[in-house]
Amino acid sequence: PDRAAIAYFGAGPSALPTDVLEAAAASLVNHGDSGLSLVEQSHRSALSSRILQDARDSFLKLIHASADTHTVLFMAGGGTLQFSAVVYNLFTAWAVKHPELAREGQRGSCEYLVTGGWAAKRLVGAENVNVALDAREVSYASGEARKFGDIPAAGHWQGNLKPARDSAFVYFCDNETVDGVEWPKGSPVDLLGDDPDRIIVADMSSNILSRTFDASKFGVVFAGAQKNIGSTGVTIVLLRNDILALLSSGGALPPQLTPPIPVTPVMMHYPTIANASSLYNTLPIFDVYIASLTLARLLGRDGTGATALELQEAESDEKARKLYAVLDDHPALFHVVPARGVRSRMNICFRLIAPGDETLFVKGAEAKGLLGLKGHRSVGGVRISNYNAVTPESVDRLVEYMREYAKGI
Ligand code: PLP
Repeated sequence: PDRAAIAYFGAGPSALPTDVLEAAAASLVNHGDSGLSLVEQSHRSALSSRILQDARDSFLKLIHASADTHTVLFMAGGGTLQFSAVVYNLFTAWAVKHPELAREGQRGSCEYLVTGGWAAKRLVGAENVNVALDAREVSYASGEARKFGDIPAAGHWQGNLKPARDSAFVYFCDNETVDGVEWPKGSPVDLLGDDPDRIIVADMSSNILSRTFDASKFGVVFAGAQKNIGSTGVTIVLLRNDILALLSSGGALPPQLTPPIPVTPVMMHYPTIANASSLYNTLPIFDVYIASLTLARLLGRDGTGATALELQEAESDEKARKLYAVLDDHPALFHVVPARGVRSRMNICFRLIAPGDETLFVKGAEAKGLLGLKGHRSVGGVRISNYNAVTPESVDRLVEYMREYAKGI
């Protein structure tokens, strides 16, 4: 079928704007009339540096941050590499900052706010360095099946969470792609307070650039590009410069530590990647190019007094509102999995109640060119991914199908 007839709601890799793909396709054959494909060009060429710079500048502009305060890294390895990278780097930063504690053999600690499967998976990262770091977990799973789907009110979770005074970092996943749980805007950062010593880390893989956020409050933000930014292959890491400075001053580490500080593997070592302007090794520049096209396109939305990201946020909210409205209009047929206050605007997860049938629902949608709706294999159900490239028109088509389906039951 023609691409225009398809509306794609896959969770990632996800839809990309057609004009971005067309520009990328042209560059795949002959980039900028150079006679060479972009994938044939050296990652160290001036052309590649320009692409990296453009992507970095657009990203910083979109989030209203500056190179004076933040460093943007483009890395391979996906969000998954960052699960480990943040632990290695931030534990080192902790040891540099607290040499007396490290020398005494005290273990550093870090806290994870676990609201779904992706925050839980980070343990894979934390366990690697567990010899030296006490990774504590505040889990929001509830019920006998220990399912995710809610974030209790502030007072409750604050009571659970007591970050140690010298905690290395507090980590959360801003949007849980599989469970459909998103932290309400501004939290938990606002609730953690304005302690300049507290380093907050957020995995924004599946909701970055869908709403504004205050970059100054975060120590590290990371996001694989393949949902809201571009294609699979690069991850954007936003790092506050004071943390980078701390990491770069590794000479201050005390010589004898028990337990020893784990040495950060070079491909995860933020100062190494930063010093090389993200070109320590061969970076997939073509993927950075796709990201730069998407970022420039998003920036181009600027106008009418609102910033580009505010416009995108309003659109994302409105698309999500329409989708939840149709679900809520038919409570006997559709059951939204997460609690109302934490429903994700990006991944709308629901079950069909008999006589509704999830397989038939998804098949019927496919027949109309509405693709990518099957829920994640670990939880089942239906999932509508409402990323930036999903147009309001695509959402309207899906809403119409859902209303028709409900009528037919
Ligand atoms: N974090 C979140 C929220 C995700 O949705 C995903 C993947 O879908 C990941 C991390 C892992 O990302 P990657 O597959 O790029 O390693």
